[in-house]
Amino acid sequence: MYEFTYSKASSVDDAASQFGAAEEGKYMSGGMTLLPTLKQRLARPSNVIDLAQVPDMAGIDVSGDTVSIKAMTRHAAVAASADVQGAIPALAKLAGGIGDPMVRNRGTIGGSIANNDPAADYPGSVVGLGATIQTNKREIAADDFFLDLFETALEEGEIITKVTYPVPDRAGYMKFPNPASRYCIVGVMVSQKGSDIRVGVTGAGACAFRVPEMEAALASSFTPDAVADIKIPDGDLNSDIHASSEYRAHLVTVMAKRAVAEAIA
Ligand SMILES: Cc1cc2nc3c(=O)[nH]c(=O)nc-3n(C[C@H](O)[C@H](O)[C@H](O)COP(=O)(O)OP(=O)(O)OC[C@H]3O[C@@H](n4cnc5c(N)ncnc54)[C@H](O)[C@@H]3O)c2cc1C
Repeated sequence: MYEFTYSKASSVDDAASQFGAAEEGKYMSGGMTLLPTLKQRLARPSNVIDLAQVPDMAGIDVSGDTVSIKAMTRHAAVAASADVQGAIPALAKLAGGIGDPMVRNRGTIGGSIANNDPAADYPGSVVGLGATIQTNKREIAADDFFLDLFETALEEGEIITKVTYPVPDRAGYMKFPNPASRYCIVGVMVSQKGSDIRVGVTGAGACAFRVPEMEAALASSFTPDAVADIKIPDGDLNSDIHASSEYRAHLVTVMAKRAVAEAIA
């Protein structure tokens, strides 16, 4: 680990101003990705700015037809929330399937989405449910947020403050996890809200993406059979020691089918 200056932010504005004054700042929420990155000397920030003490940066608000989750909310809190379980059970299930108890008790929704690991679960939910990312500067729609591998629409120093999900009529989430880390080899969130159908895939590509062909098929018939024969091209999918691109393409169809079955169960 290289040397850096550690400080606690007292507010979102304070965090942003500390970042602006730093030679190379990095925010830390739970440190679940940041700390291993620093230990492996893959990043060399001059300043680590801890968001954990910022008041009012964690919490869940379910009102009307939205579920808003503040950025510092831990995965375990989302999984255990009776409000989330009631409004979007697939989202509570997703949070409860992340990593292990330690990861779920330290990792945060804001850190997960900002980090945009291709194998992370939450990006699938953001795209598959059509969430809106609130930052200290603006709102960013799900479809505009994830740009590429570990790359998002966040500008330098921009802070995620909240993620707001519309409550769907029905939704289902299925993932094929890496048996060691539980990261997604492929995860699929499907949802229906009126005529808006979404299929959000994570784990398979450089970042989360939608599958318009499956969405069109589900618009005609919201059944597992509707997607059973739809294969996505494997050309641009991830291929690594865990799974080939061909296998990931196959898993997208299988997970989508199972997610629809869960949504209508
Ligand atoms: C062993 C292990 C297993 C895991 N398994 C899974 C899994 O199955 N599924 C899964 O989805 N994830 C998994 N994870 C990831 C984990 O769930 C965390 O979400 C992820 O590591 C981010 O951690 P964090 O919230 O502590 O953010 P940090 O590590 O503190 O930060 C991550 C990055 O986001 C930036 N950042 C943090 N908060 C903000 C913010 N509010 N605004 C802007 N930028 C911000 C930081 O600067 C940093 O670059 C696993 C992690 C580990 C270590």
